[in-house]
Amino acid sequence: MNPIEQSIFQAISCARSAQAFAEARRVLPGGVNSPVRAYRAVGRDPVFISEGKGAFVTDLDGNEYVDYVASYGPLILGHAHDAVIEAIVSAAHRGTSFGMPTEAETTLAKRVIQAVASIDVVRFVNSGTEATMSAIRLARAATSKSKIIKFIGCYHGHSDGLLVQAGSGATTLGIPSSPGVPESITAQTLLLPFNDLDAVSAALGQDDDIAAIIVEPIAGNMGCIPPLDGYLRGLRRLCDDLGVILIFDEVMTGFRVAYGGAQTLYTVLPDLTCLGKVVGGGLPCAAYGGREELMMQMAPQGPVYQAGTLSGNPLAMAAGTVTLDILSEGDAYATLELSSARLCQGLEKAASNAGLALQCGRVGSMICPFFQTGSYQGPVENYDHATASDTKAFGLFFNEMLHRGIILPPSQFETWFVGTAHDKDIIDQTIEAAAESMKKIAAVL
Ligand code: PMP
Repeated sequence: MNPIEQSIFQAISCARSAQAFAEARRVLPGGVNSPVRAYRAVGRDPVFISEGKGAFVTDLDGNEYVDYVASYGPLILGHAHDAVIEAIVSAAHRGTSFGMPTEAETTLAKRVIQAVASIDVVRFVNSGTEATMSAIRLARAATSKSKIIKFIGCYHGHSDGLLVQAGSGATTLGIPSSPGVPESITAQTLLLPFNDLDAVSAALGQDDDIAAIIVEPIAGNMGCIPPLDGYLRGLRRLCDDLGVILIFDEVMTGFRVAYGGAQTLYTVLPDLTCLGKVVGGGLPCAAYGGREELMMQMAPQGPVYQAGTLSGNPLAMAAGTVTLDILSEGDAYATLELSSARLCQGLEKAASNAGLALQCGRVGSMICPFFQTGSYQGPVENYDHATASDTKAFGLFFNEMLHRGIILPPSQFETWFVGTAHDKDIIDQTIEAAAESMKKIAAVL
């Protein structure tokens, strides 16, 4: 690291975070409960958060930041939203979990069914990982086929069959991206490039044992990459032609890019939809749903087994319901579109003023500025384009922004989330910080 880089990486006042991290590392693997939180991709230790309100979080040392992590998407209304907290507290007073049915589950189910066009019947689970895993089980049961198609760079949680890394070329048999995942399981997963219909058509033509295609309709786990024109409709057509189940993983996009999710934006309906994040209003909650004849195959109505001790948890149902009510009533999505567009344009202008090549991927309030100071410059349409980004530039930028009171997701490949609490002043403050940060990093790149 040269001296200028060193000055960029110099620590903000974070003695208490450092101490907390040291303690956490003794009792939690890497000091965290989810790997990205360890900040490995941005060359520093994490800050520990003590509280959040609206668009802001405060760390243990009392530093306040504008937050674009938003718990990786759920907090579309911001931290500790008054109405959400009130609903959670009121539910908690009546009991935190029963393992017996409550009306709160039906209430949120009705909201989801009303909002998401492809869902007639829904099942609540606790995490996005569970939702996608269960949707795939149902797809396999419904088709009596085994294999699934997954797109390179899309993330669908960490169940064995979905934890497969990018292979090269066209159809690649899945290679586990973690020890402990048997190849016999990932061999059932075909990996194809995102946004490439020809590859899907070819794969389906070669293999008649494909149960389902699972896709993030807007990729949000390799930065933010929108589907190309006609891509989702093309997937729909191919699935219809061959009796393959189309699963939209809307864990990130559901209630985020539009009230009805990406399927509303692009007017393409999947057979099964996975939801998570916003649907639980910041509490552990996810869901999968679809047409009645498919969903009624789930136990106890049908033979396909899936269960959960804490599924449909009353606190999560209450937080989700009030969050959806607020989103459905006001002009939240129009406001989010304006502020997110302003942020994106501001970032691009800041970059061009600093002489940095940058492409800002965005759909609604999902944003990702790709630093293109390396080999590839141009539109980002797939994993290869995304991974050609300059991760060193992002790391420097992240640290500069942190020092200026803006906390970003700590990787070039994570999406930023704008919420309703990010008002115009906060967005402008972010743009100003980005302009200064980009000038500074341009000097060392
Ligand atoms: N699918 C998508 C599209 C996601 O973004 C994520 C998490 N970021 C998941 C599934 C997994 O959700 P969870 O972390 O709740 O298991």
